[in-house]
Amino acid sequence: MKYKELGKTGLKCAVISFGGIPIQRSDAANTVAVVDALEKYGMNYIDTARGYTVSEEYLGAALEGRREKFILATKSMSRDYEGMKKDVEISLKNLRTDYIDVYQLHNLALKDYDKAFGPGGAYEALAEAKAAGRIRHIGVTAHSLDALKKMIEEQGERIETVMFPYNIVETQGDAVLKEARARGIATIAMKPMAGGNLDDGKLALRFIEASGAIDISIPGMGSVEEVERNASAAEELTPLTEEELKTCETIRRELGNHFCRRCGYCAPCTVGIDIPSNFLMVNYLRKYDLADWARARYSGMAHHAGECIGCGECEKRCPYELPIREMLKDVAGEFGV
Ligand code: SF4
Ligand code: SF4
Repeated sequence: MKYKELGKTGLKCAVISFGGIPIQRSDAANTVAVVDALEKYGMNYIDTARGYTVSEEYLGAALEGRREKFILATKSMSRDYEGMKKDVEISLKNLRTDYIDVYQLHNLALKDYDKAFGPGGAYEALAEAKAAGRIRHIGVTAHSLDALKKMIEEQGERIETVMFPYNIVETQGDAVLKEARARGIATIAMKPMAGGNLDDGKLALRFIEASGAIDISIPGMGSVEEVERNASAAEELTPLTEEELKTCETIRRELGNHFCRRCGYCAPCTVGIDIPSNFLMVNYLRKYDLADWARARYSGMAHHAGECIGCGECEKRCPYELPIREMLKDVAGEFGV
């Protein structure tokens, strides 16, 4: 396994590490087996989230007696001081530890930026937890390139890691992530397999490693087989050949036409549909084997794909020229509403 230092944190992390979303579809016994495999292959960075239902709890139980062998990262959607303070304590309890290595503001969008970083915001609670030794480092995760840029430019001295989508299809963060690395902020690739849409996992991970934009990748894993597959890929992170670069270009062209990057530029929808979340849920349903969870989350949304009136306003704003109306029909067909 290859290891890299995570920016200025001093943490030495396996370049292919663990994303904890799929643990939700698992159970406690399987999580122990997954953590056994992570230990065996030296995948020492474990990322989870308050929002991944049972993921923190299962991982906490599986880490009993071996917490020190891993670097633990989690995150919270709380944007205010009180909410974040509570969430840090819940994460500590769930993960059965007295410190968390990296605590992240989860999926921060521009609209929440001032609240999270301003007085009485979530960042204050994280800074306080860090001073008390409850957490060791502070990070952010985002899907919006504008939010990522702003955080690096304005909060570069206060944040130590950034997590952003990066894969063969989603390279929109390339320059900004390289800038982050140049400033000593660690970069973590979420969705390295483009949300389960890339068939050749080895190629996907080699592409990221060769990019120079990313320190570590955290593919989601919910089984020992997935850990083994990614561990085997980690042994072959060789540079890409000309032929393979062309293959990546072809994948980008073919998949990119129908691939939502969750940038949010299409908003606002005329009837209030949260367009990227609709696409996200159908992806969870089809690619992550999280059907019940995706259906529950989808039904809880205020507006559904089936409400689209076909005005086309969103498509004018999508920088990737996605056929949003056609894609939403597909989502509505899948969920039945
Ligand atoms: S086309 Fe549909 S999704 Fe797009 S803005 Fe109009 S109503 Fe909303
Ligand atoms: S539909 Fe287009 S504009 Fe909207 S979030 Fe997805 S990629 Fe961005």
